[in-house]
Amino acid sequence: MVRIRSVRKRFGSLEVLKGIDLDVPAGEVVCVVGPSGSGKSTLLRCVNRLESIDSGRIWVNGELMGYAERDGRLHTLRPHELSRQRRGIGMVFQRFHLFPHRTAIENVMEGPVTVLRTSTAQARRQAQELLDRVGLADRGHHYPAQLSGGQQQRVAIARSLAMRPSLMLFDEPTSALDPELVQEVLAVMRDLAATGMTMMVVTHEMNFAREVGDQLVFMDDGVIVERGDPREVLAAPRHERLRAFLGQVQ
Ligand code: ATP
Ligand code: MG
Repeated sequence: MVRIRSVRKRFGSLEVLKGIDLDVPAGEVVCVVGPSGSGKSTLLRCVNRLESIDSGRIWVNGELMGYAERDGRLHTLRPHELSRQRRGIGMVFQRFHLFPHRTAIENVMEGPVTVLRTSTAQARRQAQELLDRVGLADRGHHYPAQLSGGQQQRVAIARSLAMRPSLMLFDEPTSALDPELVQEVLAVMRDLAATGMTMMVVTHEMNFAREVGDQLVFMDDGVIVERGDPREVLAAPRHERLRAFLGQVQ
């Protein structure tokens, strides 16, 4: 589903990704952990091409991100082709990015109506189902400011799912939440994983990684230092840097 090969990315003189290789098979959940500045967000942003890469290749669903092959040569995708490619990839950020002047259900309907040209009636039905699924069936007419952080983040997840993505990227989706609201968001993500969604999750929630992750990836300074079954990696980290990191977050 996701294939990342020899990806390098620099910002000016700072090399942030120094040759990343990673596979995420369909239906699997990969949890990415690592210290601040190690390149986790950049990696996710390269997968959906919010950032371009300097070298290497990223395929999602068999499609090379950012390029099309024509006449045996690679061509950079035009903006509308790139938007089509990115449409299949949902992303949820630390901050919720909801439209403040739209209700929860309007936020969820927005993408299908404007991008997918779904009829308003059908988009509303689907949005209601999605709000149901994230436990907010009765909150559709609330504005973001009338919702808790955890509820807003669940609306943000519903809004991503409304675009029917085949891959979901989560960048520290619970880091901005009060501790008592973290679990309700993780529960929605756990349910989503159980439906077979392919997910890349940057998180500091080691229990989530242990229980839901199929793979744990530890990044430090732009490289993947350690990876494997989360239960095994967390029970017996091999690298000193991972041991030190776990000592801080657990
Ligand atoms: P955190 O845990 O704090 O979110 P991270 O692992 O997600 O960290 P990134 O956000 O990927 O780290 O950043 C990696 C490095 O790249 C950092 O040194 C950061 O300052 C730098 N960086 C990220 N985005 C840019 C940008 N647009 N321009 C310049 N430097 C950037
Ligand atoms: Mg980050």
